[in-house]
Amino acid sequence: MPRGPEAVARERPGVVRSLSLRLFVAFAAALMTLYAYWGLDLYRTMNAEVRYRAETLMEERRAYIRALVETAVNGAQHQRRTVEARARAVIRERVQSALAVASHIWRTRPHRASDQEAEVMIREALRPLRFNNGRGYFFVLDIATGRAILHAANPALEGTDTRDLRDSTGQPFVQSMLDMVRDQGTGFHTYKWFHPTRAGPNHRKIAYLAHFEPLGWAIAAGDYIADMTADIKAETLAQLRSMHFGEDGYIFAGTWAGVSLLGPAEGRNMWEVTDRHGVKIVQELIAAARGGGGFVEYVRPDIEHGMQPSHKLSYVLPVPEWEWYVGAGVPVDDINAAIAAMRHDTRREALLDLLLGTGLVVLLAAASYLIALDSARRIGGEMAQLEGFLADDGRHPERLDTNAMRLAETTRLAQALKGAATRRDAAEAALERQTRNLEKSTADLERFVYVASHDLREPLRIIASYVGLLRRRYRGRLDADADAFIDYASEGARRMHDMIGDLLTFVRVQRSEEPFVAVPLGRVLDRVLATLAARIEETGAKVSVAPTLPVVHGREPLLVSLMQNLIENALKYRDPERPAKVRVEAAVTDDEAVLSVADNGIGIDPAYHDRIFLFFQRLHPASSYPGTGMGLSLCRSIAESHGGRIWLESEPGVGTTFHVALPLAPADEADHGAPTGPDEASRQS
Ligand code: ADP
Repeated sequence: MPRGPEAVARERPGVVRSLSLRLFVAFAAALMTLYAYWGLDLYRTMNAEVRYRAETLMEERRAYIRALVETAVNGAQHQRRTVEARARAVIRERVQSALAVASHIWRTRPHRASDQEAEVMIREALRPLRFNNGRGYFFVLDIATGRAILHAANPALEGTDTRDLRDSTGQPFVQSMLDMVRDQGTGFHTYKWFHPTRAGPNHRKIAYLAHFEPLGWAIAAGDYIADMTADIKAETLAQLRSMHFGEDGYIFAGTWAGVSLLGPAEGRNMWEVTDRHGVKIVQELIAAARGGGGFVEYVRPDIEHGMQPSHKLSYVLPVPEWEWYVGAGVPVDDINAAIAAMRHDTRREALLDLLLGTGLVVLLAAASYLIALDSARRIGGEMAQLEGFLADDGRHPERLDTNAMRLAETTRLAQALKGAATRRDAAEAALERQTRNLEKSTADLERFVYVASHDLREPLRIIASYVGLLRRRYRGRLDADADAFIDYASEGARRMHDMIGDLLTFVRVQRSEEPFVAVPLGRVLDRVLATLAARIEETGAKVSVAPTLPVVHGREPLLVSLMQNLIENALKYRDPERPAKVRVEAAVTDDEAVLSVADNGIGIDPAYHDRIFLFFQRLHPASSYPGTGMGLSLCRSIAESHGGRIWLESEPGVGTTFHVALPLAPADEADHGAPTGPDEASRQS
């Protein structure tokens, strides 16, 4: 079943609704895109912020431990730089004390004591004196002779001439010391000498010598730089050990050989210590220190029991002269935790914003959808008014209130439609008036033709009967011309009679009030063939009719007349050279039947195909083919009065086919009509 236009229209979306929907979709898409872009940007900014804060935090830690280590190393360096000065200060102070002691003994010696006894007193007073953790001792030389008066560390030397003693470079250092004391009174002297506990001869030693004038002695003490340095190192380490920071921050130190000097693994060689990521921690620290200082990151291994392995960042600086690295580390786990917390917060904020934004988008979308719906409803309402107005062809203009419309477009449309309906009504009224006038004049004309034809018959009948009387009485009694004239007059009267007859038939067709009913064309053909049976037989023609013919909607007597005219013409205008053949059949289209009457007669020149349908138009003189020229006019009039049409195809010398289109009877009406006529064989004539 094909769908009606209304159903089709109902299936399609309304213009406003579809426009609103599109606008809504476009708006929502734009909003979503904008929002996505904004959200992404926000997320990126937040991430950058987290990164920046993480870096800042890390940088703060770095700066902190760096400053710490620098302070520690500066302290150590200061200590280191003062080793010699401090060594000198200590021994000078000691020697001056010893000098004071010697002077005191000398001054306070008993009167009876000899110089020798005083010498012994002084020597023995100085002998047990020790300093620098027992390492330091005094020695006394006789300036004039170079004889060793006292040598607390090696008494065997006492009494021997020390001037021949040479240091490891072969220098007779004692003589130069004695010369210096003699010349300057006091002073330092540096040389290289054996060390009591260390192997080898090249141990740098500083000695301070002071002139004890009463006895011509040089009282001296010395110390090894290495020993002094070791003291300072220990002191430095002690200082560093006391440096604490943060919760459990400490300074660590070690030698370039990997021995830990300060820190959890103090005293152990940590060269090979490796963290769980394969970082050789101490080697890295040493490498960084030897390179001038730097940061090292690693996981602190479980050096002491109970120490949690933690991620550490350390900074180391070198003390190159001592081949030390000194550093401090801070745990960075808390930084990572802080960063993770920041990330978490950022993500939560972003999510919250996302939720808020989504809510906003949904809200806006809903609002825009509602606005669209409202517009659709408003415009739809006005459209419905217009549709309602058009539904009954605008017959009720009062139902369309243009003042109540709120939109300019619909108002203009309504005004235009109202105008069109008003103009259409005026045109229809004028047409109706014209039609009425036309119908009246047609009716008048038909009445006139009818009356005239009818009334003409009477005088014509008188003329014909008197001409007949003349012919009967005077034929052969007047001359030959008179006989011919009488024949002409008689023939003319007869033809005029036929013409008036046909004219009357034509007018009757026009005025027919016969009702339209279902007419089976088979029955029409039966009647026509019955009427023409004698004529058919006389001409020897062969008339064939299709076995089934449709049922049309019409007036049966007129259809009989139409078919009879066509078949009569087919018989009349047959070709004398061949036996006449007439074929009647019908084709059915959607709502009409097309009946065809085909003959094999003389045919009609196409130039006359229109003309032959006009009143009294003939193509042959009455002498060769009798007739009035009204037949086809009548046929056309009948076809058209049925709402049909008539036309032909013809080829002169071959034949002619007339086609008549007639409306089919409606199905319910056709059922009541008689079935189509008998089969073809029975209708063959
Ligand atoms: P009539 O037959 O009385 O002359 P019609 O109106 O029936 O008048 O026909 C008009 C003219 O059309 C005819 O004079 C004839 O010349 C031509 N005509 C009609 N039917 C045929 C036909 N079947 N074959 C050839 N000519 C025809």
